[in-house]
Amino acid sequence: MITSSWRHDFPTLTNNQQTSPFVYLDSAATAQTPLAVIERMQRFYTHEYATVHRGIHRLSANATYNMEQVRQTVANFVNAKSNDEIIFTKGTTEAINLVANTYLPTFAQTGDEIIITEMEHHSNIVPWQMLAQRLGLTIKVWRMTAEYRLDLNDLQKLLSKKTKLLGLTHISNVLGCINPIKAATAMAHQCGAAVLIDGAQGIMHQAVDVQDIGCDFYAFSGHKLYGPTGIGVLYIAQQWLNTLPPWEGGGAMIDDVQLPIGTTYQTSPWRFEAGTPNIAGILGLGEAITYINHIGMDAIVTHEEALIRYAEEKMQHVDSLKIYGNAANRAGVIPFNLGSHHAFDVGSFLDNYGVAIRTGHHCAIPLLRCLQQSVVCRVSFGLYNDSQDVDIFVDRMRHIKKLLG
Ligand code: PMP
Repeated sequence: MITSSWRHDFPTLTNNQQTSPFVYLDSAATAQTPLAVIERMQRFYTHEYATVHRGIHRLSANATYNMEQVRQTVANFVNAKSNDEIIFTKGTTEAINLVANTYLPTFAQTGDEIIITEMEHHSNIVPWQMLAQRLGLTIKVWRMTAEYRLDLNDLQKLLSKKTKLLGLTHISNVLGCINPIKAATAMAHQCGAAVLIDGAQGIMHQAVDVQDIGCDFYAFSGHKLYGPTGIGVLYIAQQWLNTLPPWEGGGAMIDDVQLPIGTTYQTSPWRFEAGTPNIAGILGLGEAITYINHIGMDAIVTHEEALIRYAEEKMQHVDSLKIYGNAANRAGVIPFNLGSHHAFDVGSFLDNYGVAIRTGHHCAIPLLRCLQQSVVCRVSFGLYNDSQDVDIFVDRMRHIKKLLG
């Protein structure tokens, strides 16, 4: 039996009035929020509310101090060299768009190349395509092998002196495979290309050390890390900080404003954070990281690894359930289909039985094309799941199989 001693920290899981049982297996879409995070944001609105950076009064100074403390907490969490390297964004999507819109126009010329993999989330495809079109760049695709793996030899064949950027997901949101991000980064750097790692799924299933990876950019979202929605992080390695121009213009990012033209900008991180930030979201993210640090990433990884092995083993015994990807290299998620039954039907039945899973293309249509599927089901796990969740899910799958034939 695999139990979770952290489950009771999550009000949605313990107070759910809608269904009994309530089995939440959709953490890869968004992870549930512990009470500590909710209370931290409530405390801000109840007792500490003011905006940051502008005020001379005590509340504002306090909000600024607390927000900057979170920047330090995030820097420590990913082992950044300095907190200047931590930029607050709305999420992974905005972080990637920021890099696309600052790095490429500054450093890429017509005819240069971007490499992305076949397993990327649309957030790590579309921004590059939009910029490629605008700047006359070519996108090359690092395809998967027949076993749905990324092979570094294939990357080597794609890299050239024209490569300006490699965009690569840390962990696939569909297959759950953990990609060789450190080796890929070293190879790309040898050709002079910068590397952006999409850490939306990596950040909550592995300890992340950006200095060890050596990447130029690492993006993630707070809501996949037991924090709130609307807040994310872009790590920018120091060497780029003040060579990249700002992306959005507005308050808080300027040094001086001249008319009609001649405005100068703040240094990083503020030059990338125009406007009033999501202060409550930042404080919530800080609390989520404190919560995780308290448990320890090692304990979380051990728990999730045991759970995913258990789930994969059990799922294999459900008649005609097909699991995609590779069990030997998997974190957090298991994609599957039940015979020829449409994933939406399976997901709807499970919902009626109190089991929440994800169905659809998972914002990874190119990857699904490789699987020769238009939709798949996906179960995903968080630190609060236990073997009972898996048992209920597998039992309900057997019922569905009987019902649907
Ligand atoms: N990349 C991956 C791998 C993801 O799983 C997600 C979220 N599903 C994103 C990017 C986008 O994250 P967000 O919507 O929080 O910006």
